[in-house]
Amino acid sequence: SAGGRSHVTDGTSALAAATLAGAFDRGADGEILLTREGGHHRRRIAHAGGDATGAEISRALVEAVRNDPGVELIEHALVLDLLTDADGHAAGLTLHVMGEGQRDGVGAVRARAVVLATGGMGQVFSATTNPAVSTGDGVALALRAGAAVTDLEFVQFHPTVLWLGPEAEGQQPLVSEAVRGEGAHLVDAHGTRFMLGQHELAELAPRDIVAKAITRRMQEQGAEHMYLDGRHFGAEMWQQRFPTIFASCRAHGIDPVTEPIPVAPAAHYASGGIRTDRHGRTSVPGLYACGEVACTGVHGANRLASNSLLEGLVFAERIAADLADRHRRGALPERAVDVAAARAARPVPLPAPESRAEIQRLMSRGAGVLRSAATMAGTAAGLALLTEQAHAHVAEEKPADPRVETWEAANLLLVATALVAAAAQREETRGCHWREDFPERDDAHWRRHLITTLTASGGPVSTPEEQ
Ligand SMILES: Cc1cc2nc3c(=O)[nH]c(=O)nc-3n(C[C@H](O)[C@H](O)[C@H](O)COP(=O)(O)OP(=O)(O)OC[C@H]3O[C@@H](n4cnc5c(N)ncnc54)[C@H](O)[C@@H]3O)c2cc1C
Repeated sequence: SAGGRSHVTDGTSALAAATLAGAFDRGADGEILLTREGGHHRRRIAHAGGDATGAEISRALVEAVRNDPGVELIEHALVLDLLTDADGHAAGLTLHVMGEGQRDGVGAVRARAVVLATGGMGQVFSATTNPAVSTGDGVALALRAGAAVTDLEFVQFHPTVLWLGPEAEGQQPLVSEAVRGEGAHLVDAHGTRFMLGQHELAELAPRDIVAKAITRRMQEQGAEHMYLDGRHFGAEMWQQRFPTIFASCRAHGIDPVTEPIPVAPAAHYASGGIRTDRHGRTSVPGLYACGEVACTGVHGANRLASNSLLEGLVFAERIAADLADRHRRGALPERAVDVAAARAARPVPLPAPESRAEIQRLMSRGAGVLRSAATMAGTAAGLALLTEQAHAHVAEEKPADPRVETWEAANLLLVATALVAAAAQREETRGCHWREDFPERDDAHWRRHLITTLTASGGPVSTPEEQ
């Protein structure tokens, strides 16, 4: 992700081309080097700067945007809600500008179309690989705007995140699957390789299999983490092939050359999101979604490692083509309606910013890697209480101060509530949604999506799609 929040108001051309022009690692013969990750039978993943691929892609993208005179950037601005015209067509956005840029305060942007690219929602859980800004803002905005959201229950947990201690919260460093792809082993505290015999790919089994195996082993042994052993790589390979991970381990007092790395699963990728068609269009005319915020359907119930950046590239291109076809010309909408304000009989409940940690704890405790009706009921009750409290503060005219942290907490609360409702409703195990009380896949009832929308009172409701 790029550093601060930013909103691109116009122009998407050449971004994909610029990204592809990024400096991927190449071999002596000039060919792009490829590696493997979970579920891959062959090397298919390009990388840059060893293990700094995301940074390089962001660099190329940011450079392309800055060099494009057709793009106006408003940085350090938090997108709040959708504006529509009288026909319900997307007409712009409300923004909370954080005071670090040139324009200060809360304002609005008018537009002939809106593309949401706000990323994931990993911050609904205590332990996540996602940055602090991945608070599900786009999905919450879409729900408030009346758009359909789907597949929220399919959260991919990355099996190997650096374990930083029992109290660690928020973004945690990823120990990339490529480390296992290059031959590191998962072991328990006794040094036993517990993935052998569990899957033909052992440590490189798909992420859900490895995350579940680690979680189960942790539960069986009463351990807080397992270990990833890459001591046999030696110092040179660690430094050259995995410089970022190596530095991150060292910064936390672990030397992967001489000791196994403590690892545990953490929320990594939201396969669900705002429902789109193959052109990135959502159910609200003129509103598009791209990247992790979207659910295009290409990841099914369980994203294959490294397909998300590819999805972003493909759908960005398609959205750009659709925008050029349908929205290139025409006047900006004269009048715009704040959909969330117009829809809600009462204002959006703003929980106290401190509830962020409570939301995360509730979600990790009851709706994480292994879920059941009982664990999720506790989580749902806790979230409902936070929502009630936020409503009560509004009714008592003591709402939380509307600032970035409050908006983010409100978005986290809404998205977490919607996620748990969908996960509780899907009484089967499929892809990365694992129900301890329904361990089988049930195609007869559940080979379909759950579509989530908001009711008139502002609560999420999930409806199984017609077959
Ligand atoms: C550690 C890690 C490693 C990964 N490795 C890989 C990999 O190797 N291959 C792969 O394919 N995928 C990988 N992924 C997944 C992939 O990086 C993400 O799915 C992808 O970056 C999402 O891109 P995006 O453009 O949708 O969102 P992001 O890159 O998250 O960008 C979203 C942007 O929107 C901004 N934003 C959010 N909310 C608001 C708001 N309300 N107002 C204004 N701006 C807002 C954010 O600040 C951010 O700049 C990895 C993810 C992580 C966390």
